[in-house]
This record gives sequence, C-alpha cells and structure tokens, in this order.
Amino acid sequence: MVKKQRNRSNINAFIIILIIIGMIAFIKNNSKQSQTSSKKDIEASTIDNNIIQSSNIKVNAKSNKDLGWELTLVNKDNELPEDYQIPLKSIDEYRKFDSRAIQYLNKMIADMRNDGITNIWVQSAYRSVEDQTRIFNNKVEEYRKQGKSLKKAEELTELTINRPRQSEHNLGLAVDFNYVDYSFDETLSYNWLVKNAEKYGFVLRYAKDKESITKVKYEPWHWRYVGKENAKKMNELGLCLEEYVEYLSK
Ligand SMILES: [Zn+2]
Repeated sequence: MVKKQRNRSNINAFIIILIIIGMIAFIKNNSKQSQTSSKKDIEASTIDNNIIQSSNIKVNAKSNKDLGWELTLVNKDNELPEDYQIPLKSIDEYRKFDSRAIQYLNKMIADMRNDGITNIWVQSAYRSVEDQTRIFNNKVEEYRKQGKSLKKAEELTELTINRPRQSEHNLGLAVDFNYVDYSFDETLSYNWLVKNAEKYGFVLRYAKDKESITKVKYEPWHWRYVGKENAKKMNELGLCLEEYVEYLSK
C-alpha cells in the first residue's frame, strides 16, 4: 500500500515536471514568434514605403542582368530584349523550358508524384515571341470580329494575354499547370506547390495580394523559376518579383 502511494506521488511529481517543461517551452516559443513577427512588420512597412516612393517599379531586363538570369524581370514595363538568348531543352514532345532550370522543374513534378499527387501536368512552358505574337493577334482578331475598335480589342486582349516580349513564357522560366484555371488553387497539387515549390526554386508569380504591383491578375497555375535561395527569400520577405528585384537593386 505504502509502495503504491509512493509510486503515485512519484507519478504526480513527474507529471508536474512535464507540465512545467511544457509551459517553459510554450513561453519561449511565443516570445520568439512575437519577435519575428514584429521584425517582419518592420520589414513590410519599410517595403511599403519603398513602393510608395517609387510607385512604378521599372527595372530593365538588361540592367537587371547583374542579378543573374534567374531574376530576369519581364512584364509590361520590361520587355525581353531582342538579343536575349535562351538555352532551351525539351520537357516533352511539345514543350520546352530553360535548360539551366529544367532539372528543378522535372524534380519538383517527380517529387510531387512520389508524394502521391499524380494529378499534375505542364500545360504551357516556353513560348517563342512568334507564338506569343500569333496568340495575341488571334485574340485581338476575335474582339475585332465582335465589332470592337483596334484599340479596344488590344486593351481587352491585354487583360488575359501579354504582348510579345512582355510574357514570362517568352523567357522560358515560367510554367502553367493543368487546366490553367482558377480551380487549380483548390487542388492538392496547388497546396503542395505552395508548401514545397521554393525548395526547387519556384514561386507563385502572380499572387492575389500583389495584383497592384505585378499588374497581372491572380494566376494560381503560373509558377516562375527564380532559384532556390531567391524563392526562399522572396517567400520569407513576402515580396513578388518586381519588389524583390527592386529590393536587391538598392
Ligand atoms: Zn503562365
């Protein structure tokens, strides 16, 4: 009986010690979290100020060469230079990607499949400037047939299709997955990418909360290769490519 009681009091003491250790760990962790979040807040507000100061981020693809090919910025304000050379390699019979980054794309897709998510495929990757011109002109023509003026037709086209040399697909570092539609962000594939893509050097290029900066509507299917370190840093700082290039150029 005495032995049993002693055992019980030993167990009670053990439980109390466990609770104390748990509480200490909890307090430590909490203070760490509040430190990092306040640091992030400071960084975010600094970045906001920078954006307000230079409301129109214009980093020329050429002048951005110093930052490396992985960070080449292509958008409405930064056309791909005419002499821009891209080494290409085939993903499959129809699709190509920058040969310096294709191994990371292939590995990312293979690892996703290994994790049991097999519902993933590359719909669109590299597009030549000629292809982009054809796609753009076809859409303009469609609107013209509906009776729109050339100016209006081009404006409407630009809402969904980038002009030639203004599309990341001309750069060979962007990939569109699956059906290229908004329901992609409800898939396991998308969740996997959000969690893991940075490990392979990819980022979600046109995020919902960055539309005013990228000037492109949210595209859950469009992922851009920027290199592992850059991808991790961009996610950590919460920066889109325009902001990140500006941040590094300072
Ligand atoms: Zn795309």
